[in-house]
Amino acid sequence: MKKIAFYTLGCRANQAQTEALKSEIGDPRSEIVDFRSVADTYVVNTCTVTEDADRKSRQAIRRALRQNPRAKVIVTGCYARLESGYLKRNFPSVELLLEPRLSVSGFNLKPRIRANLMIQDGCEHFCSYCIVPYARGKIRSKPLEQVKKEAVQLVTAGAREIVLTGINLGTYQFGLANVIRDLSKIKDLVRIRLSSIEPMYLKRELIDAAAENPKVCRHFHIPLQSGDDQILSAMNRNYTREDYLGFMDYIRRKVPDCGITTDIIVGFPGEGEKEFQNTLDLVEQVKFSRIHIFPFSKRKGTPAADFPDQIDDKTKKKRKGILHGLRLRYMQEFAERHLNKEVEILVEQKGEGLTSNYIRCHFNDPTDSSGKVKKIFTRSVTDSGEIRG
Ligand code: SF4
Repeated sequence: MKKIAFYTLGCRANQAQTEALKSEIGDPRSEIVDFRSVADTYVVNTCTVTEDADRKSRQAIRRALRQNPRAKVIVTGCYARLESGYLKRNFPSVELLLEPRLSVSGFNLKPRIRANLMIQDGCEHFCSYCIVPYARGKIRSKPLEQVKKEAVQLVTAGAREIVLTGINLGTYQFGLANVIRDLSKIKDLVRIRLSSIEPMYLKRELIDAAAENPKVCRHFHIPLQSGDDQILSAMNRNYTREDYLGFMDYIRRKVPDCGITTDIIVGFPGEGEKEFQNTLDLVEQVKFSRIHIFPFSKRKGTPAADFPDQIDDKTKKKRKGILHGLRLRYMQEFAERHLNKEVEILVEQKGEGLTSNYIRCHFNDPTDSSGKVKKIFTRSVTDSGEIRG
């Protein structure tokens, strides 16, 4: 039996594309094995969002080649697309797969309980720091009928929650509200989650549609990036802090107890103490239930890489630390609001699951109830904002 191993770096879209590849590569008799074991084929799905992602992508390719020098190594993803020349020169034996995959189907389909479904690819926004539009190209959206068909396939194969995913999901051309409406009719699908919507493409109609549909998770991930208007403008983000706060206010009014998560870049060129403070102030107002923090990373070919007033690494690290303190505080505060109460979770694996508003819960489970909705009584909150029941 042929053994195939996969390794995925980067975002949810990449995870979804690896799932699509799993269902496409190999044949019904092939076996998917851990990336650390000896395999006949390795697939590395790379990322290029930061310099660190580039480095980790190269590292994964090297590891595959070392583990079995006779194996076929397939390299795909954003780093492969942007640096194909470099990879051909430095890793001549690897096979490059440069056409991104969007669809799930086929014999190896074994989705997780919470499965990603990629419905959109590409971005034409060109935020000044971001390399993604160069790697992913123009916006493409999966037709509604195809989305429905794949969602049914995933649910039939065992998924109970579908995370709608894209590179810039808010630009989905056939209406996210339509996707929600159609998918919520799938009988055994318990939940629909929206992965990430950029504020410049967030529409109130979508918030309304999500609020009205009981299958849609009470969770929005809205990347903030900065709380300072000048930095936002230099980032080419097309919204102000007031716009952002307006959305937060609307979400909170429409979707009570909603988990709001975000991404923030620290140390963008020109970010002085005042600008950073504006970000901290906004974080304190919104009290995000989770923040992903990224120190600014220069990406060659993007405008921000050549901006004046670059911030030194020490300052970036310091700001990351300060923001991390707030991150932990608000993660815990959010989880503590649910203490000594009954919460509903979707069990993803034995003794573990997520609430609709994105709090991870752990509980004792003598039998495996994966895929079931369960009510648990919450007893304590961990330092990282998780709940024990
Ligand atoms: Fe990058 Fe901005 Fe497009 Fe998001 S919206 S992928 S941050 S360019």
